[in-house]
Amino acid sequence: MRCTLIVCFLFFALIGSTCVQSVEADSACIAASGNCQEDSLQCSGSYQSGLCSGSATRRCCIPSADSACIAASGNCQEDSLQCSGSYQSGLCSGSATRRCCVPAAGDAACTATSGNCQEDSLQCSGSYVSGLCSGSANRRCCVPSGSASCSNLYITRSEWNARDATSQTTLQTPVSKVFIHHTDTPTCTDMASCKTRVRSIQNYHMDSNGWNDIGYSFLVGEDGNVYEGRGWSNVGAHTQNFNNIAYGVAMIGSYGSRLPNANALTAVKNLIACGIQLGKIQSSYQLYGHRDAGQTSCPGNQLYAEIQTWPNYSNATP
Ligand SMILES: [Zn+2]
Repeated sequence: MRCTLIVCFLFFALIGSTCVQSVEADSACIAASGNCQEDSLQCSGSYQSGLCSGSATRRCCIPSADSACIAASGNCQEDSLQCSGSYQSGLCSGSATRRCCVPAAGDAACTATSGNCQEDSLQCSGSYVSGLCSGSANRRCCVPSGSASCSNLYITRSEWNARDATSQTTLQTPVSKVFIHHTDTPTCTDMASCKTRVRSIQNYHMDSNGWNDIGYSFLVGEDGNVYEGRGWSNVGAHTQNFNNIAYGVAMIGSYGSRLPNANALTAVKNLIACGIQLGKIQSSYQLYGHRDAGQTSCPGNQLYAEIQTWPNYSNATP
């Protein structure tokens, strides 16, 4: 019994001294505001050797002075520069005007119209548009007056050498719904090949399907351009039962196993934002994929998953 007590005492004494030794050995790292850890772990700064006890791979992670901003998924920059999100103070090293631009992922549609997401009680030298900003309903997009981003919005029919429609029906606007499609064709990544692709789709719709024009309201290429189909003013042939109350926007390509590139996705968001700004789409519009309205895999699994993350995607039956 007496013997056991002595063993216990020795055991704790050993543990204690090991602990103290360890802290002392890491003190150089701690003094540098760093943290000793295995250098296979992520370090939002840089590793320095020779400051930590233990094996050679146990090294000192010294945070960069901007690490608080980086941790917020932001970027430290001069706050006179444009920031597609909002500036936050106190997260960056350097001067007071070097601040952390934290992107607002859900604000892309507003940013695409050269607008700014803010509380709509604040002054706006332009007009507020709903449905383009993340967050609460009164966080809205202040679109500056005279914003030029919605002019030259798309490549016109004459620019891609469209055939004339054989007949047209005027669409009542603003519409309440937008359907996203893919063309399920090869993609196109420059204007010349996208124009050729759009012409071939029109030929197919008119000659094989017997329609009076290309079916989609607009088409979007991975060249980042929007191509005018039936446009803002005419009823399309894209989504059975909904053509009279919706626009159909087709992304050129096949998006079952990959996403359209960023240029194409941004172009679609910008098109919708401008549709709202131009009074063609209700600001409270519902976004859908073609498959939400019928038996089709369109717009492909990957693109369908993507649009479900967009602010106006609706889980309600269209
Ligand atoms: Zn479709």
